[in-house]
Amino acid sequence: MSYRSFLVVCLLCLPVAAAPKPAKRAKNVIVFLADAGGTSTLNAASWHGYGEPQKLYVQSWPYMALSDTSPAGSLVTDSAAGMTAIVTGVKTQNGVLSQGPDTVRGKQNGTPLKTILEYAEERGLSTGVLSNVSIADATPAACYAHSNDRGTAGEIFMQIFNPRFGDGVDVVMGVGRKSISAGVAKLGKDLNEVSSEKKRPIYESLNEVPADNLRPIVVQDSPINLPEAARKALSVLSKNRKGYFLMIEWDAHTDDPRKGLDNVVGFDKLIREIASTVDLKDTLLLFTADHSFALRTVGGKRGEPLLKGLDEWKKEHTSREEVAIPALRVGHSHTGEEVLATAQGPGADQVKGFIPNTQLFRIMMNAYGWKEDSQQPTN
Ligand SMILES: [Zn+2]
Repeated sequence: MSYRSFLVVCLLCLPVAAAPKPAKRAKNVIVFLADAGGTSTLNAASWHGYGEPQKLYVQSWPYMALSDTSPAGSLVTDSAAGMTAIVTGVKTQNGVLSQGPDTVRGKQNGTPLKTILEYAEERGLSTGVLSNVSIADATPAACYAHSNDRGTAGEIFMQIFNPRFGDGVDVVMGVGRKSISAGVAKLGKDLNEVSSEKKRPIYESLNEVPADNLRPIVVQDSPINLPEAARKALSVLSKNRKGYFLMIEWDAHTDDPRKGLDNVVGFDKLIREIASTVDLKDTLLLFTADHSFALRTVGGKRGEPLLKGLDEWKKEHTSREEVAIPALRVGHSHTGEEVLATAQGPGADQVKGFIPNTQLFRIMMNAYGWKEDSQQPTN
């Protein structure tokens, strides 16, 4: 081939070769949020659950990043600012739910920040928040509410019924009925009144939810069976042909190391189950934590239980002391180092390197193929 005809062939090929591949978009996004589940906790949970390192299902995912969790103004975040960053793309002050860094906690509202759940509502997708702790607690609340103070359970819960976009969060399942009732009572209402006024029953248990209710709210007093809640939620959310956004929180604080590590192992099993039931061609799964926690592995022997000595230690110490057993030291504070973010599904390949937690919001928006509103302050 002459040089000239070679050039012609190359030019003819170029447009084809350079044409961008059609972007793979996510129809659905599920965020799995291990509250306080830092990398040291994940490492310990694998030893605790499986007697080996790196046996958790989420530790097998192909894409991962280390996510900085620091909030505006400090080094160590609480769940409110941590989750706000993940669902709005903006770092705010500790204690603040989806309002900007101009908020004064407990005193003055700041700029409301549009959450990924609200973007989904605005576009007609179905949305849900599930938690094994209070559904008005900071992590789920940051998805559907805006408040200058995470401690106002009544006001936060009532925002479910006064959405800024779409018809508001569709599926709500968690606990905290007592504190939410008390919070709502402070506003001069009771939950039954709210229920009939808003024409949305607030069920006391998962069993009460009829199969034909596509927007169930469950607020239990007793602990919730989160896997059961997730199955119910996914069965209704997946009916929407436009897709859905779902956030599932499972507490991973290890003040009580057995409870915390059991929670992580249970959560990981649930994630494995969900990953096997959804279509990973159109569903982005994102696992991360809002912040890390003061758990360190300082010893231990292969073949021995990680929590060896814990029961004896508990008999002689109060729960406020730092836990000190052969394998672990566990304090009671959040810590500031990066947490794992890992993902699979469309857009998961963007989860890489050292990133701010706010980047997770942009990764989800890009996966859906949505543009951020220009008025959303970024940082
Ligand atoms: Zn937290």
